[in-house]
Amino acid sequence: MPAFSNSSMDGFAVRASDLAGVSPQRPAHLHVIADIPAGTVPFTMIGPGEAARIMTGAALPPGADAVIPVEDTQYKSFDQDTGAAGHIEIAKPVFAGDYLRPAGQDFRSGDLLLRAGSDLRPADVGLLATLGIGFVPVNKRSRVAVLSSGDELVPVGQPVGPGEIYDANSLMLSALIHQNGGEALLLGIARDNEHSVRSILDRGVDLDVDMIVSSAGVSIGAYDYVRQVIQEQGNLQLWRVNLRPGKPFAYGDYKGIPFFGLPGNPVSAYVTFEVFVLPAMNILHGRRQSGNRVASVILRQAIESDGRESYLRGWIARSNGQLVASLAGHQGSANLKALVDANAFLVIPSGVKSLPAGSRVDAWLIGSIEDIPDESVD
Ligand code: AMP
Ligand code: MG
Repeated sequence: MPAFSNSSMDGFAVRASDLAGVSPQRPAHLHVIADIPAGTVPFTMIGPGEAARIMTGAALPPGADAVIPVEDTQYKSFDQDTGAAGHIEIAKPVFAGDYLRPAGQDFRSGDLLLRAGSDLRPADVGLLATLGIGFVPVNKRSRVAVLSSGDELVPVGQPVGPGEIYDANSLMLSALIHQNGGEALLLGIARDNEHSVRSILDRGVDLDVDMIVSSAGVSIGAYDYVRQVIQEQGNLQLWRVNLRPGKPFAYGDYKGIPFFGLPGNPVSAYVTFEVFVLPAMNILHGRRQSGNRVASVILRQAIESDGRESYLRGWIARSNGQLVASLAGHQGSANLKALVDANAFLVIPSGVKSLPAGSRVDAWLIGSIEDIPDESVD
C-alpha cells in the first residue's frame, strides 16, 4: 500500500531530468498534455518537455518520476476543454520522487499489520478497510452474569429505607465488564437466604453465561450464604486470598459455570475484579496483551501495610522527571470516593509492613498514562 505510485499534491506530473538546473533566473517551460483526476488510470506517456496536470491521489503517468505542486508553478495558458494549463513555468529545481507516494511506501506484502489477540482499534479498522477487508474473525464478547447479595441492598431507582443502601456493585461491575469488552447481564439482588441465592444463580445458568460474578455474602458473617451455596451446589475451589482489600474472595463453579465471589465492599469488589476477573475475561476474549498498565513510582509519603498484598488508592503525578505517588483519600474498602479520586492503585507487595517515603512501588494505572498530571516544581 499504496498499490500504485500516486501524487501527494495537486500539481503537475513531470520528468525531473527536465527540471534539474532550473532557477528563478532560468525557469523551465513545460507543455501540459494531459489531465489526471483521482480515480483514473493515466495511459499518456510523458515525454521530455511535457507534463500532466495531476490531482492528489491520482496515479502517476508513465514517463513521469516527480510531481511539482501547483503553487510552485505559474500557469502560462489554460485549456478551456480540459481545464488544464496548456503550459506551465517552473522556477524551482525538482528531484525524482518529489511529492510522490511510491507503491509500497506504507507497507508491503508480507509485512505484519495486526497481531492476533489484540483489540481492534479505530485505526486498525481503517487499515483493514484500506485492504478491502470488511469482515475478520474475532472472539465473541464474553457474557458475564452479575449479581449482588444482601438484605440491605436496594436497586438504584427505588427509595432506600432506614439501614438500607443502594446496590452500587451491580452497576460498577457491569461497567467494568463493558469497559473490558464483555457483555454484562444483571441478575439482580439475592436476599440473605439460601433459596434466594440459588434461584438468582440459576437465572445465570438459564442465560447460558460464560461466567458469574457475584459480590458480598462470602465473608464469615451469620448471613453470608453465597459461599455456602457454591460449596453445596457447585464447587468451591478457593476461598480467602492474601489481598487487601479483597481477602474474602471466593472462586469455583456453579453448575459448571466459572464463579467469582467478590467481597461486598465496593472497593474490594473493584480490586478483586481487576486482579482475578479481568485476566479470566482476557483469556475468554483471546486477548494476549495484559489488561493493566503498570508504572514504577516513588512514594511521597510513608505507607503502613498489614503484610497482605495491598492495592491502595493512590494519586500519581509527574514531578521533575519522575513519577511520584501519594494516597488518594481514606483507604477504607467501603469508600468509593477515594477510588474515584485515584488515578492508580499503589501495589504494596505481600510481606511488606511499612515503606518509608522515597520507596519505589508499582502502580496500576486506572486511566491512561496521558492523564497523569505534571506537578513539577522549579
Ligand atoms: P458482606 O460481604 O455481605 O458482609 O458485605 C460487606 C459490606 O459490603 C457490607 O457493608 C455490605 O453492606 C456492603 N455491600 C455488599 N454488597 C454491596 C453492594 N452491592 N453495593 C454496595 N455495598 C455493598
Ligand atoms: Mg451481606
